[in-house]
This record gives sequence, structure tokens and C-alpha cells, in this order.
Amino acid sequence: MSKIKCRVTHCVSNKYTSCIRPKIDVRENDEQLSDVFCSSFKEKRLSEFQTEYAYQDFPMLFEVDIDCDSYLCRYNNEHKCRKHVVEITGTSATKAEDSSCDSFEPR
Ligand code: SF4
Ligand code: SF4
Repeated sequence: MSKIKCRVTHCVSNKYTSCIRPKIDVRENDEQLSDVFCSSFKEKRLSEFQTEYAYQDFPMLFEVDIDCDSYLCRYNNEHKCRKHVVEITGTSATKAEDSSCDSFEPR
């Protein structure tokens, strides 16, 4: 289990820059294997934006189970992420491939 600091504020599972899902899937980009993205991204509708909290940075972090297929990353162990705190970026992401795991580190 990991805690996720997520900048993908357009995702429906993003609340106050935290991920509220119990589990996410992280995938490699076929064209650039070290470019790893959150495939659990789902775009938020306009009415779901809670801009009043937009500048609170990481007020709460939840434990999330991360399935990851990037064997190039040193934190991957048998398809599970073993990093304690994972950072996902993609402030303007409107699709899963626009997000990125910033915690990726090559073996
Ligand atoms: S992009 Fe992924 S990590 Fe971020 S809030 Fe959405 S599901 Fe969670
Ligand atoms: S830190 Fe590594 S193992 Fe964890 S989600 Fe990111 S790419 Fe996958």
C-alpha cells in the first residue's frame, strides 16, 4: 500500500490533491516505457470541481493499493508498487496518458 500525492485535479478520484480510490492501475506507455501513467484516471465533470479547496496541498493522504506493470521501476515488486509515497503529476490531464508517475526510478 502507498500514499498518493496526485496533481491530476481533473480526475474524479482526486480530492484536495489526494487519491481517494482504494486501488489504482499504473501502466507503461507503449512508445516510451519509462513514461508511466495512471490508467485509473477518469475525467471529472465541471460540477465536480471543488475549487474552494484547490490550494490546499495534500491535507490528507489515504492508503492505496497500486498495481503497476512497469518492471523498469525499482519500486515494482511482482506487479505491486512498494514505494511509501507516490507522486502523480498531470495538472492539465484530460486523459489517462497525460498523467505521469513522478516517482518512477529506473532499476
Ligand atoms: S489520476 Fe490516478 S492517482 Fe490521481 S486521483 Fe485519479 S485515480 Fe487517483
Ligand atoms: S513508483 Fe514505480 S512501481 Fe510505483 S507506481 Fe510509480 S512506476 Fe510504478
